[in-house]
Amino acid sequence: MSIVVVASGKGGTGKTTIATNLAQIAGLLGEHVVYLDCDVEEPNGHLFLRPDMTKNIPVGIPVPKVDDEKCTYCGLCADICQYSAIVCIKDKVLTFPDLCHACGGCTRVCPTDAITEVERTLGVVEEGLSDNIKFIHGILNIGEAMSPPLIRAVRAEGDKEGLQIIDAPPGTSCPVITAINRADFVLLVTEPTPFGLNDLGLAIDTVRQLGLPHAVVVNRSDPDNKIARDFCRERGVDIIAEIPDDRRIAEAYSQGELIIGALPEYKETFIELFENIEELLSTAKVE
Ligand code: SF4
Ligand code: SF4
Repeated sequence: MSIVVVASGKGGTGKTTIATNLAQIAGLLGEHVVYLDCDVEEPNGHLFLRPDMTKNIPVGIPVPKVDDEKCTYCGLCADICQYSAIVCIKDKVLTFPDLCHACGGCTRVCPTDAITEVERTLGVVEEGLSDNIKFIHGILNIGEAMSPPLIRAVRAEGDKEGLQIIDAPPGTSCPVITAINRADFVLLVTEPTPFGLNDLGLAIDTVRQLGLPHAVVVNRSDPDNKIARDFCRERGVDIIAEIPDDRRIAEAYSQGELIIGALPEYKETFIELFENIEELLSTAKVE
């Protein structure tokens, strides 16, 4: 099994466009592909791959519930909680489920077994099939901030063989780390603007700290593309594909169409991208 994560330092770079087209081309080339949309706050891979969904699995975390009859208000639960999700005030214990990280610490230290755990639902994982691509995504409940457990649940559904293509959340925070953890290769999508390259720099720092092989795709590239090429040369990272700033691509995107479906002349670009990734994967595995 190989895990390829498509990530970006900021939103709006075309990360999902690259991830979905890459998945489709890999499937057409005979790979067993699993597409995992871990951008759970705004999953939109399904708009392009259009899977038929067959499974819907609610995902939650265990949070504490205190039995006042058994509680002695000793405060040990509040002392151990690193997130102020349980607070003891005189003869009252308050819980704040939205802040709870489900570490189980309060339940373990309670001397009177006053705490039980109840499920708090964060969202759902849906599974389906798009042609021969297994499609899995997570949908975080509106207003929910705790996305890493849902991202872990999406990843847990991935097959243990073939090629996993993960669409990561944008940025460089905790949810991104959860999505790129244990990746064999990270494809960083950027656009050739000062903002885009600044955030690409942060993403490069993150994958380097994690020791993950990586390379860059420049989306909406101009023919010269000097700014992105200079930046990547200075940072010592390879650009392995450049997708031009083509109005027809934006039109295909707005209609929920894959680039390689709407504009077959781009098939070769994505085949080359896939082959480059395969080569880098095999080099990384040898190392
Ligand atoms: S540790 Fe248990 S007994 Fe002590 S305050 Fe918390 S819930 Fe109550
Ligand atoms: S489970 Fe952990 S994070 Fe949640 S309230 Fe208890 S100690 Fe705090």
